[in-house]
Amino acid sequence: MPMPTLEQIAEKVQQCTACPLHEGRKNAVPGEGNPNAELLFIGEGPGQREDETGRPFVGAAGKFLEELLGTIGKKREDVFIANVVKCRPPGNRDPFPDEVEMCTSLYLFEQIALIEPKLIVTLGRHSMRRFLPEDFQISKVHGQPFRRHGQVYLPVYHPAAALYQDSLRQILKSDFRKIPTILKKISAPS
Ligand code: SF4
Repeated sequence: MPMPTLEQIAEKVQQCTACPLHEGRKNAVPGEGNPNAELLFIGEGPGQREDETGRPFVGAAGKFLEELLGTIGKKREDVFIANVVKCRPPGNRDPFPDEVEMCTSLYLFEQIALIEPKLIVTLGRHSMRRFLPEDFQISKVHGQPFRRHGQVYLPVYHPAAALYQDSLRQILKSDFRKIPTILKKISAPS
């Protein structure tokens, strides 16, 4: 079967009923951005504003993400932004592992295959755990790039976690500052 396009994936997401998270959603949030992005940011799941608008990272955490992108000379439109689950978990609870597995297997892995990012930045531990070893602790590995199965990942804290903790904001800013160098290294001939 031919690979679907990003638009076709988004259409399927909007109608998806594959896991219980569809029951409480107003809008599914497929993800958006540059289809040829070097940088793919993957968060946890939609919050209230995202559920209302169908767009990822549009609330306070999204504003902070945009600020962080600005520090490396990027705008939202330059990158692709998605989540490990595309429907809002009720009451903003953590997504369950089977929901993450279902949603990523159905949609996110296909999106990654189409975008072919140089670097995947995982935002928060739920996103990190889907791609990196289960025993990784974000407090120990944030800001360090890892290559796995040919893909490079950079785990960082979730911007929402840093909203009310200045120390985490500073850590996130410092981890983002490493992104241009990591991208250069990935692009350099080996
Ligand atoms: Fe489908 Fe993902 Fe929404 Fe579950 S979270 S209903 S798998 S789109």
